Amino acid sequence: MIARMRRRQRGHIARRLFLLFVLSAFVPLALIAALSLGEVRSLLLQQGEQRLAATAKAYGMMLYERLLVAGDLAHSAVAAGRDTPLSGEALARRTFRWIATVDAAGAMRSIAGEPIRVPLADDVRERVAARKSAVLVVPDGTPVHVVLAMASPASRGEVILAELEPDYLWGTAEEVPASTDFCVVEDASGVRLNCPTPVDDRSLAPLLGPRSSSLATASWKREGDAWRAVAWPQFMRAAFATPDWIVVASQPERYQLARAIAFGRLYIPVVALALLLVTWLTARQASSIVKPLARLSERVRGMAQNDFKSRVELGALGEDEFGDLASAFDNMSHTLGRQFASLSALSEIDRLILSTVDTQQVVRTVLDRLAVAVQADALGAVLLDQDNPSQARAYYRRAGPGEGVVAERQPAVMRDRLLLEDVPGGQWIALEGMEPAWLERLTAEGATRAYVQPVTWRGAVCGALMLGYRGTEAALEEDERRHVRELADRLAVAVSSAWRDEQLYVQAHFDGLTALPNRLLFKDRLGQEIARSQREGLRFAVLVVDLDHFKTVNDSFGHTTGDAVLREAARRIAQCVRTSDSVSRMGGDEFTVLLTNVQNAREAWPLAEAIVASLSREFQVGGQRCFLSASVGIASYPEDGASAEELVKSADTAMNRAKMAGRAQVVYFEERMNADAVARLTLDRDLRVAIERRELELYYQPKLHLATGRVRGAEALTRWRHPVHGFISPERFIPLAEESGFIDQLGHWGLATACAQMRTWRARGLGVESVAVNVSPRQFRRRGLLEFIHECVREAGLPPECIGIEITEGLLMERGEAVERLLDEIADMGHGIALDDFGAGFSSMAYLTRFPVREIKIDRVFIDGLERGPDSVAIVAAMVAMSHALGKTVVAEGVETAGQLALLEKLGCDEVQGFLISPPVPAEEFERFVAARASAAAPA
Ligand code: C2E
Ligand code: CA
Ligand code: CA
Repeated sequence: MIARMRRRQRGHIARRLFLLFVLSAFVPLALIAALSLGEVRSLLLQQGEQRLAATAKAYGMMLYERLLVAGDLAHSAVAAGRDTPLSGEALARRTFRWIATVDAAGAMRSIAGEPIRVPLADDVRERVAARKSAVLVVPDGTPVHVVLAMASPASRGEVILAELEPDYLWGTAEEVPASTDFCVVEDASGVRLNCPTPVDDRSLAPLLGPRSSSLATASWKREGDAWRAVAWPQFMRAAFATPDWIVVASQPERYQLARAIAFGRLYIPVVALALLLVTWLTARQASSIVKPLARLSERVRGMAQNDFKSRVELGALGEDEFGDLASAFDNMSHTLGRQFASLSALSEIDRLILSTVDTQQVVRTVLDRLAVAVQADALGAVLLDQDNPSQARAYYRRAGPGEGVVAERQPAVMRDRLLLEDVPGGQWIALEGMEPAWLERLTAEGATRAYVQPVTWRGAVCGALMLGYRGTEAALEEDERRHVRELADRLAVAVSSAWRDEQLYVQAHFDGLTALPNRLLFKDRLGQEIARSQREGLRFAVLVVDLDHFKTVNDSFGHTTGDAVLREAARRIAQCVRTSDSVSRMGGDEFTVLLTNVQNAREAWPLAEAIVASLSREFQVGGQRCFLSASVGIASYPEDGASAEELVKSADTAMNRAKMAGRAQVVYFEERMNADAVARLTLDRDLRVAIERRELELYYQPKLHLATGRVRGAEALTRWRHPVHGFISPERFIPLAEESGFIDQLGHWGLATACAQMRTWRARGLGVESVAVNVSPRQFRRRGLLEFIHECVREAGLPPECIGIEITEGLLMERGEAVERLLDEIADMGHGIALDDFGAGFSSMAYLTRFPVREIKIDRVFIDGLERGPDSVAIVAAMVAMSHALGKTVVAEGVETAGQLALLEKLGCDEVQGFLISPPVPAEEFERFVAARASAAAPA
């Protein structure tokens, strides 16, 4: 709609211009032509009239002359007729029709020709008698008869009459001028003497009326043509006594206007041609005005829609002032576009700064904007670290749209800062030989020069923007430099606000004294940890650590020392925990530890103990030495609290209980766990003295060889008879010993005891081939196991095959190569190695082939299941078959029923061990059992 209106407006201008041009050219042209044409016409008509009048006069004079001449001729013809009538006749023939004489009586005698009767009036006779001629008109026939009357030379009273030959008098058609008609009329009577072309009386009337002095003219139509006529009165009365003859000469107007018509014929094409020329010129002119205008207004609309890039395309039209206007317009649009882009870039960055603390994002946007606004081959920004002046973050971007920004850490040395401080307003530098690492990327992009604009905040340089150029002729216009400067200022604002945010965050979330997270951040992290654990089904523990008697440190050494002690305490606590754990200071002398990813609450105990131990060591600060201790409370998620508050409260309660219980200790929030922990602790202490107190004893469980029914060997199992708690199961104290490391001594004791026992039995001739000792994985970790076994066996004077060892799969899985080597050496020495609890773990076939295992002990679980279903039978059968295939001996553990035994025999199991045969028993009892068995088996 709007477009159509605009087009119409444009059309209007063109039409107006066109009309203006046409009118201004055509109207005068037409007017002049019309005027001149009229003028020429009237001139021509006037001329024609004059010429016609002259012609009429000449004709009239000619008639008069001829009448006079004819008179003379007739006179002489009559005279001659008397003498030589023939020659007179011959002469008269061309002038007269006839000649005759009339005597006084009125008798007519022909001299030549055949005369007609002509009445002679008296006045004519008188006139002739007075020797004067007269002309008589006999109006009878066309043309009328014109008869000349004169006196006869022969006798008085005789009259000569001669009728004039019409051709002679009026002249032949050749004699009269072209296109001119003559009509001779007798005045007064109106008798037409000679009118070859007919003219009606009405037309002639104005010519014949009473005459004034001016020329009488008239016009009429004949056969569609206009005719113009002039009348000339030829005076006759004096010479011929007859009324005047009026000669009417007429010509067609066309003839008179012939030149005007020719002119008119030429004139129309000329005007048409002129009009065409004008039209063409106008159209050209109009388009040379309208088109540039249209382009310009189109451009204005483009600008209104944010298009500052396009140019006004005028082409050939732009060679005049419009061209100047267009280029001025383009310049303006270019400048506006740049300013607009730079303003919108700045406002975008401002928004970004307000909405985010992410400096990186601001830098990226700044570089992206810069790439659009400024021509450069590579762009970069470097920001010096606030807290670490020798480091800088650098960002690079290639020119061109859509390029990514690369971020890097860069070392920044003092010189680089000085370089930046040198160029406060931005300057060009040649890149060759420049050292700063942050300029290297530009060089790598092939840049040889760079424009560097420092980023300054409160007078201090905190970074720079850089534009790299490949060529040498690169230059920046003033407004481009300004834009770079403005972007640098924005960057400064972004950096400073990020710093401030960071500072505020640190102030709000970290403890100023120890630099540990404060209560706020701890709560925050605790909340996150709860959410994470809830999501992933994890457990964790919270420790509250409170220094004991810290008040006395402050009181006796002052706050400075107190602060130093707190800092040292924080350092020690942090040292005790894993990197994944976080230590916070809750205020005063209270700290918390968040232990993530804990399988069970028990795992927190050693760590808490370690913290207590660490804080119990001597403090040396500022030349002062002092002793402190700490009370620790443990709460675990999710048992002791579902929320952060509850957990902290539980841990706090536990910590207070530790204080009440005498400080310098760890307390679980849950009572049961406290008892457990205490028990474990005392048990561990008791176990350490159990060997000296001879509370430990080795029991032996026989292994029955099914094929022979003989007891070939025994497994040594440790028993602890606690003075207070009584008998304690190895299931309980072995893991404890493994945890505390006491397992080494325990292992040594067991091996030495077994060897000694074996020596005794051999000395007594007990037919037991070997005793197997359980060796825990932890013992393999220690050096000297091999030497120890060797020593024990040697001391007891036993062959190595008398002592076997039992290991578990876990050991094999845990540490492949070292264990493999050790086991190889033990086997090489001649000791049998049994794989205990087979089937309970991974039961990898690879272990059986790779390690030098001689015996497989199928776990109790499978034996227990033998009578319950076919599955276990199948599994045991497979295990037996497999072990046999590999050449291993198969031992079934935990055989309790005869049914199990019968099945095992059927499946081809080699040996059995279990309560059905015998529980583990003291050495003497075992001796008796073997002896009884031997005697029972002997007779068979
Ligand atoms: P283990 O090596 O699998 O030892 C066999 C366990 O099965 C013994 O338990 C034994 O009393 C029990 N047992 C034997 N026959 C039957 C039966 O028919 N039914 C049932 N229900 N149990 C039977 P014990 O003596 O309580 O030992 C437990 C574990 O403690 C042993 O399992 C062994 O791994 C470890 N252990 C015992 N003494 C020592 C030792 O001196 N050093 C090391 N490192 N570990 C030992
Ligand atoms: Ca065992
Ligand atoms: Ca076992």
